[in-house]
Amino acid sequence: MQELPAFLSERLFAQYGERANEIAAGFDGERPVTLRANTLKRSAQQIKAALQEGGFCFTQPSWYEDAFILHGVREDAVRQTALYERGEIYLQSLSSMLPPLYLGAQEGENVLDMTAAPGGKTAQISALAGGKVFLTACERDKIRFERMKFNLQRQGVPRVSALMEDATKLSEFFRFDRILLDAPCSGSGTLIVGEPMKISPKLITNCAALQKKLLEKGLSLLKSGGTLVYSTCSVLKEENEEAVEFALRRGGCRLDEIAPPKELALLPSMRGTITVAPNELYEGFFVARFVKS
Ligand code: SAM
Repeated sequence: MQELPAFLSERLFAQYGERANEIAAGFDGERPVTLRANTLKRSAQQIKAALQEGGFCFTQPSWYEDAFILHGVREDAVRQTALYERGEIYLQSLSSMLPPLYLGAQEGENVLDMTAAPGGKTAQISALAGGKVFLTACERDKIRFERMKFNLQRQGVPRVSALMEDATKLSEFFRFDRILLDAPCSGSGTLIVGEPMKISPKLITNCAALQKKLLEKGLSLLKSGGTLVYSTCSVLKEENEEAVEFALRRGGCRLDEIAPPKELALLPSMRGTITVAPNELYEGFFVARFVKS
């Protein structure tokens, strides 16, 4: 594990033992380009046909018909297609397609995406409900907020209000049926050996504190019986299990067990939650689902 910062290797070994080597190997090398068919505009079948016509070589994971894995192509080539320009496809990692699937928003519901930019999951939540949910997409950073608005518009997401605000300060006047908290994190699941790594002990500590604050706020904004999905692209317990334990200690909610697709390689994780192992196809990712009492 020479390529990873020493503090990170130590934490991975402390948490995962020998499997830390497998995690480090999962950071070695670029993953293929993956995308999601934007079914607000075109069906997965139509995208499949268009990709075939465009000469793209692709496969699909068994667990999501809207997801495509392109082989032997770089992102730039995809960005130049009319499909991309028209917002009929969206470049998105496979792991990051999981949280909206577990959120399961239904027609007519009020849904909050607490930390939403650049908006990939907001658009996916809408698409999964046939565009029939009422979305609030909150983002604190101005540049990312503008990017999110552009992406949501290009993907034709209906019934969405974009809020440029610190989600920890959202008015207690709001109540939502479902909330996605795809939290800001250290990115410890998405590292690529050879690329600059901004991860540090301080970043992890700061993220862990903010994540707990956001989670507490999210749970307070949830209707009784409502569902909150908490996700990070980190594999560290400080940002994952410890946040879940914090929420459970706080009370008023329970974990709602997640059943992962069979083909996913998983790391040991708190019962009912999933931690996706980083490998040649997937980024490291954590997902937990709460139901409010
Ligand atoms: N869900 C997004 C997607 O799939 O496109 C990615 C979200 S990214 C992991 C986390 C986002 O949270 C960043 O854009 C960051 O600027 C934003 N953020 C961080 N702190 C926030 C806060 N207190 N309130 C709102 N947004 C925040």
